[in-house]
Amino acid sequence: MTSTHFTAPLSAHSPEYRGRFAPSPTGPLHFGSLIAAVASYADARHHGGAWLLRIEDVDTPRCVNGATEEILRTLAACGMQIDGKVIYQSRRNDAYHAALDRLRRQQQVYACACSRREIADSGLRGIEGPVYPGTCRDGIGDKAARAWRIDTRGAVIALDDAVQGRITQNIEHDIGDFVLYRADQIYAYQLAVVVDDAEQGITDVVRGADLLDSTPRQIYLQQQLGLPTPRYLHVPVAVNAAGEKLSKQTRAQAVDAQHTLPALTAALGFLGQQPPAFASVSELWTWAIAHWNRGRIPKTRALPAAA
Ligand code: GLU
Repeated sequence: MTSTHFTAPLSAHSPEYRGRFAPSPTGPLHFGSLIAAVASYADARHHGGAWLLRIEDVDTPRCVNGATEEILRTLAACGMQIDGKVIYQSRRNDAYHAALDRLRRQQQVYACACSRREIADSGLRGIEGPVYPGTCRDGIGDKAARAWRIDTRGAVIALDDAVQGRITQNIEHDIGDFVLYRADQIYAYQLAVVVDDAEQGITDVVRGADLLDSTPRQIYLQQQLGLPTPRYLHVPVAVNAAGEKLSKQTRAQAVDAQHTLPALTAALGFLGQQPPAFASVSELWTWAIAHWNRGRIPKTRALPAAA
C-alpha cells in the first residue's frame, strides 16, 4: 500500500483510527450507500481501527419509518460489525443547540429573515445554487428570524482528500453564508455532522464524493467550534445510466439482506479492489481487509455502477 494519498501519516494498524458510517434512514440500504459502508469499513479495519455507526435522522421529515432497523439488519447480514453505541441525531438536539449557542456568543452566526424567493432573486450563483448575499448580517430589525446562518466572510478552506486530492473552496463566494438552523426548526446537516464526528472521536471520514463540496464547510465549522479536523477520503458515487446518483429518488434497489455476497463483491469491484470470487461473506472480509488498497480507488467523483 502506498502512503502518497494520505493527508497525514497513517500506518497500517493505527490504534487511533476511528471511522464511521452515517446513513440517513430515508429508505433501505441500496448499492450507492453500500459503497460508502464498505469503503469506510474496509479502510477502518485495514488500519486496525474502530468503525462506528451514526443514524443521521436529524432531518425528521425525510426519515422513513422502519428504515433504521432495515439498515441495521442489512449491515449485520453484510457481516459488518459496529463498534460502540449507535448514535441517533434525532436525540442530539441539545448538543447542536450548545454548538449554535457557542457560535452565537462568538458572534459568528446571525438570524436571517429572508425567504427562499428573496435569496433566489439576488442573482448570485454558487456551486450549489443561490449564494446568500448577506442581507441580514447587520440585523433583521423587527422582522421575524427564519433561520440562523454563519458568517463566511474570508473563509477559504483547503483540504487534501486521500483520493480526490487537494480541494480549495472560497466558501463565501462558492457557497455563501450557510444555514445552521433551518426555518423549519431543524438543525442543518452541516452542523450536526461536525458536532457528531467530534462526539464520536472520528479521525477518518470515508464517504461518497457527493459530500466533497460540503467538506470545506464542515472544516470551517470545526475551526470555529475549536474541534479537530479528521482526515477525509471521498470515494466516487455510483451513478445510473442517466448519470444520476443512485438514491431513493432514482429508485435504486435495496440490497438483498438474504444475498449480500454479490452486492458486497460488486461494491469492492466498484472501489477498484479487484476481488476474486468468494464462498462466503466472512471470506470476503478476510480478503478485503487484508488487501484493501486506497491507491486503487478510482480518482473521480462519480462512476457508473455496472448494470
Ligand atoms: N447521511 C449522509 C448520507 O446518507 C452521509 C453523511 C456523511 O457521511 O457525512 O448521505
